[in-house]
Amino acid sequence: MLDVTTMDLLALEKEHSSGTYIKREIQIVRGEGARLWDADGHEYIDCVGGQGAANLGHSHPAVVSAIQQQAATLMSCPEFFHNPVRARYQAALCEAAGMPRVYLCNSGAEAIESAIKLARVATGRTGIVAAMRGFHGRTMGALSATWNKAYREPFEPLVPGMSHVPFNNIDRLAEAITDQTAAMIIEPVQGEGGVHPAEPGYLKAAERLCHERGALLILDEIQTGFGRTGYFFGHEYDDVQPDLIALAKSIGGGVPMGAVLMGERVGALPPASHGSTFGGNPLACAAGLAVLDVLCHSDLIERARTRGEAVMAHLRENLPAEAIREVRGRGLLIGIELKDKVAPVLRALQARGVLALPAGLTVLRLLPPLVISDEDLWQAITIVEETISHAI
Ligand SMILES: *Cc1c(COP(=O)(O)O)cnc(C)c1O
Repeated sequence: MLDVTTMDLLALEKEHSSGTYIKREIQIVRGEGARLWDADGHEYIDCVGGQGAANLGHSHPAVVSAIQQQAATLMSCPEFFHNPVRARYQAALCEAAGMPRVYLCNSGAEAIESAIKLARVATGRTGIVAAMRGFHGRTMGALSATWNKAYREPFEPLVPGMSHVPFNNIDRLAEAITDQTAAMIIEPVQGEGGVHPAEPGYLKAAERLCHERGALLILDEIQTGFGRTGYFFGHEYDDVQPDLIALAKSIGGGVPMGAVLMGERVGALPPASHGSTFGGNPLACAAGLAVLDVLCHSDLIERARTRGEAVMAHLRENLPAEAIREVRGRGLLIGIELKDKVAPVLRALQARGVLALPAGLTVLRLLPPLVISDEDLWQAITIVEETISHAI
């Protein structure tokens, strides 16, 4: 294209993209670690973290080198052939998770679809119990397990068999899980729904109820997995053994990838019962192997825990009580519930060089890459504090 300016390209994207995304008026062109740059050369501290896809930061050198090499060797290879990179990746992921099998796919919603199908086929039952405020993705099955009516209603009728219970309420869960239930699906920390962690004991109770009644426990670790909460998985806080774990977002280090880890109670899938053309492609597997290698041989996960605790303690101490209801989260998945709307705060942060996310209308969500330097992290937190204080 000839000589187009940034403004032209913003307009071009508005004209031709689907319309579903409410876009911010900046064009991001480059990333490195926890920093992003726009087309006008402005630099940002990134607390969006690719919406959870950039736990290792942008263009991590180990991921870049792995995909450069793999791109020059072999990119697509359907799963009816064996492939050495996939073999190594599946073994490494299963070992890291302590689970025997894995099904590979390409996104979070696809991992949830797969987990629902696997639960139905493994149990011969149809019921899926999910949580109010839960978010599991936008495809028909994942959407059916999602709570937010605004996401669901335009697309009804949805997949039957889904029910929703109040999050963190064990009694209501005990009523909902029956001998018709294939699985309970839940996020260890509800992300989109406002950054609400499962209370201690809740996941354990879910595990016990599922086991007693012959249902499976599916954990949606798409946002909470891979170090985000200060543990490899978000459920490690509650010491549970899920039957299925849905993964995506950061597992490919920025390359689209999803996975469903399958426990002993699930067993193997019947031959030819499910599948995906791109699932387990060598490019994504090479990226995934590099990600696991970095995560398992660095202190990034522990850092997420200590930095997250320090940041949340600091914010609770220093944010003005007139402006906020609560600071909550786990590790570097941090939610600040404001008394007012979050949108103006996000705009003000962006103007001051900090990019952050909402989680609903009043929650400011911070998902910085785990590689963020202490200097950048505390600078971002100072700017968040000043911005929220000025907003009142
Ligand atoms: C992002 C997300 C999904 C959906 O993942 P996509 O890759 O966007 O389809 C599902 N569950 C949770 C908890 C998520 O955060």
